[in-house]
Amino acid sequence: MSENTNFIEERIIEDLNSGKVKAIQTRFPPEPNGYLHIGHAKSLCINFGMARKYGGKCFLRYDDTNPVKEDEEYVQSIEEDIKWLGFKWDKLLFASDYFDVMYECALKLIKKGKAYVCDLNAEQIKQTRGTLTQPGTDSPYRNRSVEENLRLFAEMKEGKYQDGEKVLRAKIDMASPNVNMRDPVIYRIVHARHHNTGDKWCIYPMYDFAHPIEDAHEGTTHSICTLEFEDHRPLYDWVVRECEFAQPHPQQIEFARLNLTNTIMSKRFLKRLVEEGKVSGWDDPRMPTLSGMRRRGYPAEAIRDFCDRVGVSKANSEVEFGYLEACVREVLNRDTDRVMVVLNPIKVTLTNYDESELLDVENNPNAQTVTYRKVPFGKHLYIDADDFSLNPPPKYYRLKPDGYVRLKGAYIIHCDEVAQDKKGNVKELLCSVVKDSKSGNDTSGIKVKGVIQWVDADDCMDCEVRQLDSLLVDATDEVKDFAERFNENSLVTINAKCEKSLKNSKVGDRFQFMRIGYYVKDRDSSAKKAVFNRIVGLKDSFKTK
Ligand code: ATP
Ligand code: MG
Repeated sequence: MSENTNFIEERIIEDLNSGKVKAIQTRFPPEPNGYLHIGHAKSLCINFGMARKYGGKCFLRYDDTNPVKEDEEYVQSIEEDIKWLGFKWDKLLFASDYFDVMYECALKLIKKGKAYVCDLNAEQIKQTRGTLTQPGTDSPYRNRSVEENLRLFAEMKEGKYQDGEKVLRAKIDMASPNVNMRDPVIYRIVHARHHNTGDKWCIYPMYDFAHPIEDAHEGTTHSICTLEFEDHRPLYDWVVRECEFAQPHPQQIEFARLNLTNTIMSKRFLKRLVEEGKVSGWDDPRMPTLSGMRRRGYPAEAIRDFCDRVGVSKANSEVEFGYLEACVREVLNRDTDRVMVVLNPIKVTLTNYDESELLDVENNPNAQTVTYRKVPFGKHLYIDADDFSLNPPPKYYRLKPDGYVRLKGAYIIHCDEVAQDKKGNVKELLCSVVKDSKSGNDTSGIKVKGVIQWVDADDCMDCEVRQLDSLLVDATDEVKDFAERFNENSLVTINAKCEKSLKNSKVGDRFQFMRIGYYVKDRDSSAKKAVFNRIVGLKDSFKTK
């Protein structure tokens, strides 16, 4: 957490200083209907971050008041992702465990004359709600007696009515300028089995009624949510007050959702990508889910750092995806070993070199203690075809006919001859090693500007490199719809040659492929072939400051 405070934090400090709350308590309340994505990371960082920073507690509470089919897969993934991001909940809770509390609250409201059973159907309720400029009209059932309401509500609970036949509404104010306060529905009939409570209930609380009760019942002090709930806050406060929860009451604080350029955060759409097979699963490394980003090789630390740096805002906006990548790159630049990989190999033969040796090549120049590994070097090498040019433009510092280049950690070589096939394709470069030009001990007197990576052709490994890109192409005026913006080139697979040291790497290990980018070993790797995902490129065009 940075030293800069934001409006959420200021409220917390104020409430602690004034003694309004003794300790803070927050919660992260996901609906278990999909995997967590980078937007959820923002909410996680705020809720868990505040609790941690101010010595409070943060609960993980599944918002499972909808009797939708529970998906154990989602529940498991949510817990795994939160732990991976580096947070630990103080309690694990299910909102559905409070159905009795919510039912008691509804009874209390009815007895206070603050709720009534209404026979209008959804369409009729909508039509009598009024508009932003017009007040609503009272339901003809608004003035039912407490006794009648108690009887009807009990019958609703007993299953006497069909879905939608009756609802329970809060009796607030049909002329309120805030539409949410115009006698909102707080309970509806749904004859559906709930994953937790089975067939016990056929009436279920609405979100706006359930959420404040969940918070108040648990002792949440600061209920942090996204901006679209701002207009619901008066209802939130009304529910807590009228249900007569003990003080201090939880207070809802809203902040702007995190949106990223070219990034889908709608669970519905992400689900569609999975179901239609556009991606390999929720954890496809191109997905903006936390499990996708984990597999993509994003360090949890970088995601936390990003959430912290973008800060908390009251206004919706879109953050450049490049900002997240810059945070990822920063951690990787600090932490990863550099290795040599040739994506597009072209053969080099060193005509004046007949030995083979093991060279000491630096692992990570940014490490506190720099270490070295042994890299085989011999007569036959591969370099990248892109590092050679038959017709080089001016200021071309890589290899060219009759030119010099330094092989990273090895020698300077000179290109003596280019072997081409009939069509003119370059087949092989015949080069010579410059005498006394060994890295770290170069007395050759030859100055070269270009340094390129290479691998020993007789002692290297084949690997698969997955060049991952954004799932969406840039929006244009014509094409704004996510479905039409799917980037068909978001996964390009390359068969590359890499140095042998990568043989010992484990799934999840991250590297800088020198001069190429950052890569992570994917779980699709086998004993025969290592598979690497591109995490992010080397170039940082995003200014974080
Ligand atoms: P859906 O609308 O698909 O249900 P949701 O965003 O409401 O998605 P939840 O599982 O209900 O998903 O969200 C859990 C918590 O994460 C909520 O408190 C929500 O406000 C927060 N959250 C979700 N998306 C974002 C986002 N993009 N930025 C910040 N917080 C988010
Ligand atoms: Mg939701």
